[in-house]
Amino acid sequence: MEKQDCVVVGGGPGGMVLAYLLARQGLRVALLEARGDFARRFRGDSLAPAVMDWLDELGLGDEVLARPHAVADGFTWHAPSGSYRLADYSTASRRHPHYVLVPQPEFLTLLAEEAAVFPGFTLEMSARVSGLVEEDGRVVGVRYRVGGGEAREVRAPLVVGADGRFSQTRRLGGFATEELGAGLDILWFEVPRRPDDPALSGLDYFSAPGRAVVALGQGRVWQLGYIIPTGTVAQTREAGVGPVVALAREQLPWLGDRLDGLTDFSQLTLLNVRITRLPSWYRPGLLLLGDAAHVISPVGGNGINIAVADAADAGNTLAGPLVSGDPAAVDAAARAFEVRRRAVSDAEQRNQVRTERGSVERLRRGDPEPLALLKVAARIRPLARLLGRRSARAIAIPPPSEALLAVPARG
Ligand SMILES: Cc1cc2nc3c(=O)[nH]c(=O)nc-3n(C[C@H](O)[C@H](O)[C@H](O)COP(=O)(O)OP(=O)(O)OC[C@H]3O[C@@H](n4cnc5c(N)ncnc54)[C@H](O)[C@@H]3O)c2cc1C
Repeated sequence: MEKQDCVVVGGGPGGMVLAYLLARQGLRVALLEARGDFARRFRGDSLAPAVMDWLDELGLGDEVLARPHAVADGFTWHAPSGSYRLADYSTASRRHPHYVLVPQPEFLTLLAEEAAVFPGFTLEMSARVSGLVEEDGRVVGVRYRVGGGEAREVRAPLVVGADGRFSQTRRLGGFATEELGAGLDILWFEVPRRPDDPALSGLDYFSAPGRAVVALGQGRVWQLGYIIPTGTVAQTREAGVGPVVALAREQLPWLGDRLDGLTDFSQLTLLNVRITRLPSWYRPGLLLLGDAAHVISPVGGNGINIAVADAADAGNTLAGPLVSGDPAAVDAAARAFEVRRRAVSDAEQRNQVRTERGSVERLRRGDPEPLALLKVAARIRPLARLLGRRSARAIAIPPPSEALLAVPARG
């Protein structure tokens, strides 16, 4: 492949959005994705109101809404003493007063199609990166194989590692990681959704003494997550799928015979929750973003949103330096990016560690009730709205730059 302005490793939400934004500004960008398709289940699918507003500004919001999706207008904790709407998104955005749940395969396919309109965009699927090309202490490209075939190489002034929680570029680049200690793991499964099912918030948490299940209202299915304290997968597996089904029947009795098909533990998908911080996201020529730079927990549903917001910032601020081809300008922009975005992910991770510790403590104590303070807050509507606005805005997505808006969505 000819020399590029930027190589992006990983076609998840972070990498795909960045490649799109750079290509829209006329850069030559190669996106290398290890998998042969975008099929993936049980990933962060929840686009925050602020991300939807940002997509609108880029002229892509309606395209996203044309794909199968569902909306979640709040987060509700259902406890034995009652239901508490802890976050209300109704004032988080004028046009999108809710999270929009779009399956990741749909979102990624849409972006790949939109990016393909721009001549600088190259997408290589089944392209697994296995090495960095380095010169004089600077990363100047990557080595990869397509479908396990012969090794290829592509060069650029900047390689962006957007290859997720098990990032290979992070490992190859020798970046240190620090585990902040997640408290919970999640076992995901799904059951069909029917039009006459109760209208929940869309993001709902059901708790019983020592047990909890979350329900995400996707378009055609309910995505259900059985919460377990970290480190208890083996004993949960030993107990089998029975307790999972029993809790779902108890908390969501209207699912009825839809739970009959859940008979084996292997039908559950484990999300081994991690909260990982990196002391550095950048070394000359190699920048990490999204989960590669900061694995966050699904608490708050912002994994996808922070990855997109990282890419939005990088798309605004890296394009100019990359066009200039000046390594010092690229280094300065990448370091400034890290400072801005680290503040966001650090704050999110601190919140998550606190929330997870509190939740696991309550699970172990067998206390299914939210904190008394939260119960009071939930009864004060403006407060729940404020929490909804704050949690949704915490991702700090910057508006698209003028250079980006100067190019219409369809080129
Ligand atoms: C099982 C699971 C369930 C989740 N559930 C939730 C949830 O409920 N709520 C929530 O907010 N978040 C959830 N997340 C997290 C959320 O999906 C991520 O935060 C989000 O997708 C991060 O986007 P990303 O682009 O940084 O990385 P990813 O989406 O992980 O994308 C990384 C991409 O890089 C590719 N790749 C990896 N290695 C290479 C390589 N060597 N060469 C080329 N390409 C490579 C991968 O195939 C992948 O497409 C979940 C994650 C997982 C794994």
